[in-house]
Amino acid sequence: MKPRPSFPARLDSAAAAPKVVQTTPAPLTVPLAARPQGLGMDSSAHRMRMVQLLQKQGVQDAAVLHAMATIERHRFVDSALVNQAYEDTSLPIGLGQTISKPGVVSRMIELLRNGASGKLGRVLEIGTGCGYQAAVLSLVASEVYSIERLRGLHDKARENLRPMRLPNVHLLFGDGMVGYAKGAPYAAIIAAAGGEAVPQAWVDQLAVGGRLVAPVVAPSAKGGSQALLVLDKTATGIRQTLLEAVHFVPLKSGVA
Ligand code: SAH
Repeated sequence: MKPRPSFPARLDSAAAAPKVVQTTPAPLTVPLAARPQGLGMDSSAHRMRMVQLLQKQGVQDAAVLHAMATIERHRFVDSALVNQAYEDTSLPIGLGQTISKPGVVSRMIELLRNGASGKLGRVLEIGTGCGYQAAVLSLVASEVYSIERLRGLHDKARENLRPMRLPNVHLLFGDGMVGYAKGAPYAAIIAAAGGEAVPQAWVDQLAVGGRLVAPVVAPSAKGGSQALLVLDKTATGIRQTLLEAVHFVPLKSGVA
């Protein structure tokens, strides 16, 4: 008899709690032969553990925690990495880029929401990557516009998101440094890549009352280290707050 599949394989003992009802997993985009043992088991237990860790790290916004518990991060990483999908770690997604750590994704979206009781309005994401954060955002915002400058990743995100049928996610191929004026003004803007400064176009496209969260190279930091910037656009001007250190891939101009 074939061993009962578990997910992730590395957490066998923890994951082996007997489960009588087994749901059929939705089809994955990886070929059957390439699927690691383990995706047969319901991955929600692993997401719940991840969410508990996020709560311990201080994330409180129920909508964010719910979104993190709902979106299946293992669908966005290479089949060889699925066993690490629910660890709080960034992982390679090809072309030298990475999927952000769940801790950072939830922290940034919580900052972006700033305690909002309902859904955010239109959100602009710079750096679609594999599409994971766009999927999380789709559950806490009315519309998500997400731009990626690398064609290979734009296509990958499209493929990853297709089976999820998220009608409020709009994937755009282009240079996110110029934002996306057609969707403006945005209730919130979030960048997944860090530059020297926040491009003026982002500030212009942010609604009054809106908030932008982005990694920036900290002015005082040596060696180009980054910090999280929160920028609020108010009727009287711009308020900026620099928070903790973060590590993001660089924001680059142009497309490739
Ligand atoms: N949110 C992504 C993280 C991807 S990493 C996820 O969930 O997977 C950041 C991405 O930003 C990379 O894919 C990189 O190519 C992209 N990027 C960097 N500069 C950019 C720019 N000017 N416009 C659009 N995307 C950019």
